[in-house]
Amino acid sequence: MRLVAWCVAIARTYDVAIIGAGHNGLVCAAYLAMAGLDVIMLERRSTVGGTAVTEEFHPGYRNSVAAYTVSLLNPKIVRDLDLAHHGLRIVEREIANFLPLDDGRYLKVGGGRTAEEVAKFSQTDAERLDDYDRRLQAIADVLRGLVLVTPPNVVEGHPLAALSALVKTGGLAARLRRLGLDLQRELLELFTASAGAYLDGWFASAPIKAAFGFDGIVGNYASPYAPGSAYVLLHHCFGEVNGKRGAWGHAIGGMGAITQAMAGAAARHGVDIRLSAPVREVVVDKGRAIGVVTDGGESVRARAVVANVDPKLLYLHLFDAAVLPAEFRRRIENYRCGSGTLRMNVALSELPDFTALPGHERAEHHTAGIIIAPSLGYMEQAYFDARTTGWSRRPIIEMVIPSTLDDTLAPSGRHVASLFCQHVAPVLPDGASWDDRREDVADLMIATVDCYAPNFRRAVVGRQVLTPLDLERTFGLTGGDIFHGALDLGQIFSARPVLGHADYRGPIRGLYMCGAGTHPGGGVTGAPGHNAAREIIRDFRRGRLRVS
Ligand SMILES: Cc1cc2nc3c(=O)[nH]c(=O)nc-3n(C[C@H](O)[C@H](O)[C@H](O)COP(=O)(O)OP(=O)(O)OC[C@H]3O[C@@H](n4cnc5c(N)ncnc54)[C@H](O)[C@@H]3O)c2cc1C
Repeated sequence: MRLVAWCVAIARTYDVAIIGAGHNGLVCAAYLAMAGLDVIMLERRSTVGGTAVTEEFHPGYRNSVAAYTVSLLNPKIVRDLDLAHHGLRIVEREIANFLPLDDGRYLKVGGGRTAEEVAKFSQTDAERLDDYDRRLQAIADVLRGLVLVTPPNVVEGHPLAALSALVKTGGLAARLRRLGLDLQRELLELFTASAGAYLDGWFASAPIKAAFGFDGIVGNYASPYAPGSAYVLLHHCFGEVNGKRGAWGHAIGGMGAITQAMAGAAARHGVDIRLSAPVREVVVDKGRAIGVVTDGGESVRARAVVANVDPKLLYLHLFDAAVLPAEFRRRIENYRCGSGTLRMNVALSELPDFTALPGHERAEHHTAGIIIAPSLGYMEQAYFDARTTGWSRRPIIEMVIPSTLDDTLAPSGRHVASLFCQHVAPVLPDGASWDDRREDVADLMIATVDCYAPNFRRAVVGRQVLTPLDLERTFGLTGGDIFHGALDLGQIFSARPVLGHADYRGPIRGLYMCGAGTHPGGGVTGAPGHNAAREIIRDFRRGRLRVS
């Protein structure tokens, strides 16, 4: 059967076939095409962009469906692909975060007034902010320097390959040495400690720890006191908006504007993008990836096959198990996926009127990331609840209202909000299906915001709800994992996705990975796509893959 399909293959042989047109696939494709390679992309959905897309979810109301805020998108990629020319414009929030609290007070972060705001809770904490920020940014700078680097790959066999890894490791050591011993200690703590322990070491008052600690549990199904969560916090700090380090903002037109611009850049350089073309299998011949077959039975032949999908989906579903080394397959089976998030979009007749800061006329706090989780203890409890009952009755929510900065998303005077709800079990502990719990949990999320802004529930005129199961079905994310795999110490840098394959090359010749399951991991960065393209181009130039 497979042979018959292969016989009706498209006669042309592409240089590269990319499975999936998420933002990393698009970046990879654009760089490959700019290098003169003949590239085809096969995307399962009817639109490009993967988890970075904008759609109309209620008549007249559009929003970013999954990813909703931008910071990590690498500036080199924005320049190289000339995304501004393709219509991309990113605007900053007026303040970074707003935390309404249970006791009727609030904390604002950013806008140059963080110290003044934190001083409402602790003068000592306010005085420590500059030092905290300076040290965190110094360490984030090291990460920034590594984002576009192929990690040293731990390999067996040929001494030259080991030598190349050794040279890279030497470069890494030099970067770390420049930090000095004091910051090296801090870096070690950030890589190994919990976000909670790290923040407890800096601050005493709960609201500022909650504001910073939220980054340690976003997409990380763990307590903020779980070792390793400090790294997730750091991971959210290496971005920038329009040159402002650590800032978060919005793409005008939603996250889909980013991927539409990337698709524009790729198409301009000749990439052939096929939509509604799910890949069923990677074809392997004599130990080499030679193309793919789609669900529709179409065969596409290519000299290199690149996967934008997550490692579990790729290796456990798109391969004949017999062609993969058994030990490699076992490792992929144990690769940790399942970030425990629920995503909602709501159409609003008016802006939320917070008890802590009254008024539903647009104000700076409406442009912020509004965090409903007043303390690290609240976040920890939410995790424990989710482990036992599937979700917390007091859930963690970040709400952003992009229509306060972008009037293309909702009718005049109306708004759209993204609710990113943390700590729902990827798989429900009682064996129930998310299909049976979706609406109840969505009601709870709305009721939770309503506790802090009592006009919220009645302002909701439409909603879209994506449980972990929906994220898997809609976007192909295994376990609904927003990062294509947990960002824990055993799955980052040289160990992403598994030790021995951190250089974007798969275990079969001609096979590459370019998605968030490779270094530097999840988020709308473009970096995995950029780095994978560099390695693939290198292999074409070295003659390991032949150009048509
Ligand atoms: C709910 C949610 C919220 C998030 N919020 C943010 C945020 O605010 N900011 C941020 O920076 N990051 C955020 N992220 C993370 C970020 O969106 C992802 O880590 C990143 O976009 C992954 O990009 P990618 O290109 O590697 O993969 P994806 O975007 O997952 O793209 C993979 C593509 O492969 C396609 N595909 C799957 N199977 C097949 C197949 N068999 N054949 C062909 N195509 C296939 C999929 O349809 C998809 O288009 C969020 C993610 C989610 C899910």
